[in-house]
Amino acid sequence: MGKELAASVLKTLEDHGFEAYFVGGCVRDWLLERPVHDIDICTNAHPGDVTRLFPDHVPTGLKHGTVSVRVNGQFFEVTTYRKEGKYEDYRRPSAVEFVEELSLDLERRDFTMNAMAMDLQGGLHDPFDGQGDLARRLVRAVGDPGERFREDALRLLRAVRFAAQLGFAIEPDTLDAMKETAPYLARIAVERVREELNKMLASAEPQIGCWLLCETRLFDYAPLVAGLFDKSVDDSWRLVHLPALTQRWALLMYAAGYETEAARQVCTGLRMSKRETESICTLVSLLGRIQPDWDSPVSFDWGPLLLKEGRETCEDLAHVIQACWWNHADPRLFSAMQSAYEAMPVKSLKELAITGRDLQVALQKKPGEWIWRTLDTLLEHTALHGLPNERDVLIEVARKEVARDEY
Ligand code: ATP
Ligand code: MG
Repeated sequence: MGKELAASVLKTLEDHGFEAYFVGGCVRDWLLERPVHDIDICTNAHPGDVTRLFPDHVPTGLKHGTVSVRVNGQFFEVTTYRKEGKYEDYRRPSAVEFVEELSLDLERRDFTMNAMAMDLQGGLHDPFDGQGDLARRLVRAVGDPGERFREDALRLLRAVRFAAQLGFAIEPDTLDAMKETAPYLARIAVERVREELNKMLASAEPQIGCWLLCETRLFDYAPLVAGLFDKSVDDSWRLVHLPALTQRWALLMYAAGYETEAARQVCTGLRMSKRETESICTLVSLLGRIQPDWDSPVSFDWGPLLLKEGRETCEDLAHVIQACWWNHADPRLFSAMQSAYEAMPVKSLKELAITGRDLQVALQKKPGEWIWRTLDTLLEHTALHGLPNERDVLIEVARKEVARDEY
């Protein structure tokens, strides 16, 4: 993304006599040749200077020295060199102090790979050998690891998440410190825990993250998910075959033996959105009913499920069941679901040749629950059992269904 645009911000700052660098995640990802999703800039210019030089800005976090500068519609966070004051709530420093030197700003950052800055000419400022750790594929805390995790316990989960995203190991002293300071995780707000767990689970190597959560016993201090990772870690290698985050959560829960209620507790405890919660709980409940075998493929009739749960849920389910097989790359289950869907001449109530109102008029009955029941039956017959989707035919069948119900 917009490296040239970000470079123009650096240039403007330099032209006005300030220092400015690309810093943090973007430098790390450039060096790793990974896609960069946001470019952060650090500078010795104070927020007042930045807002003056860039009239098109949003004062995102002035108190912390951050101004979001907009160039051609793209935002870049420009943050004044700072060090952090005393940490009071194990997460946010109570005050920040602007400093004059880049090296002091890099010192406050969490891991060596995130503590590098790059200038306009591509020169690297790397006081903690982040580049070496990238080459060694290690997540290593800057400075004293125990102190850094005690200052801000979110870093515990960030370490796990970076290991999973990059496929890195955690440097042994850093890992030891994580085990020691794991209890501090209990103080982190549940939304932040959820965000990090989501990034970890959605990553390229989620099984590394799951394993690390167990190895460090971090999950003991995130009560909501305490049992979950412990019980599912042996199956976590399956996660990587799932394209969606909700599918990954559902697989973990199924592997841990959770039923719908337990799944719901985790979702609501982590304050997931309603949509995510419903989609995970529906999957867990269907998996519980179908009980896919870890070792042998299941085959079943997709038709009724497609009508009841809809295509999206069935796709999710097919993915998860497939990932539950030992031969997870086998696409047969998924294509069976797709063919079942395509084979249905009618796919939803909307496509039926009659409406509830038509039924009511034709059968001269008061509206009631019978309408939905009858429409569902008609849908099943037309979608799955070859009944022609024609108005007169449907009304005749409906008449018989209703008469039978009444009888
Ligand atoms: P990504 O954006 O890919 O998730 P990132 O490294 O850019 O990863 P951000 O949360 O965007 O992470 O933070 C930007 C930079 O700010 C980091 O690279 C790091 O230098 C610093 N940083 C972020 N969070 C912390 C923290 N909790 N403690 C210390 N430094 C941090
Ligand atoms: Mg970032």
